[in-house]
Amino acid sequence: MQLILGHNDQDYTPPTKAEKAVQSARIINFKTNDYSFLGFYPNIKDLVIQNYRGRDLEPLLPLHKLEHLQIHTAPKVTDWSPLSRLPRLAVVQMSSAPGNWLYGKNQVVISFLPLAQCRQLETLVLQGYVPRDRSLLPLAALPKLKYLSVDGDYPIRQLARFAALHPDITCALLKPYRLIDGRCKKCRAGLYVLNGSDAETRRPVCPVCHAARLHAHISKWKECQKK
Ligand SMILES: [Zn+2]
Repeated sequence: MQLILGHNDQDYTPPTKAEKAVQSARIINFKTNDYSFLGFYPNIKDLVIQNYRGRDLEPLLPLHKLEHLQIHTAPKVTDWSPLSRLPRLAVVQMSSAPGNWLYGKNQVVISFLPLAQCRQLETLVLQGYVPRDRSLLPLAALPKLKYLSVDGDYPIRQLARFAALHPDITCALLKPYRLIDGRCKKCRAGLYVLNGSDAETRRPVCPVCHAARLHAHISKWKECQKK
């Protein structure tokens, strides 16, 4: 059974006892500041919330069986600690308001560290979020992580170490450079952008015309991986 709440469901009243048959919930633009009703559905495995209006993620704590979580915009939430107490999470997607992240303006949370406790995590998509502690590396400890998408700037040292610890992961930032949609005006080769906030340049690099610059960056990356 699925719980579906939308903006037309404002007359919803929570059940009086646990509804154990509900395994999935879609809370889409449902206007509330009080998500304690989630506690009546302890068997939810799959939860999607769009426009979360709460100040914290405490209402998710009763959902011990949660495996898939998507929260699209939670402008008041800065602390992801409650996620560390949801051990079955395998797929997590957190996205801040697209109007922000599409233009490079990221929402700040205290840390990504709580997610490092979710040992079953395989897919992690963090769109438009950056951690105040500027640390991505705790996520490298996740043994099952296969796909990671993150925004923001991290130094080469962090990215290269992460890539060394998790060579099989799919993540655009965990390689020395990434291909972008654009071609060199001189030689028509596909252009790259160097990964790492401290990379020599943020401008597109041509693998032919700027070969020396690209190789210097790759050497620096490999050097960081050895440390
Ligand atoms: Zn070129």
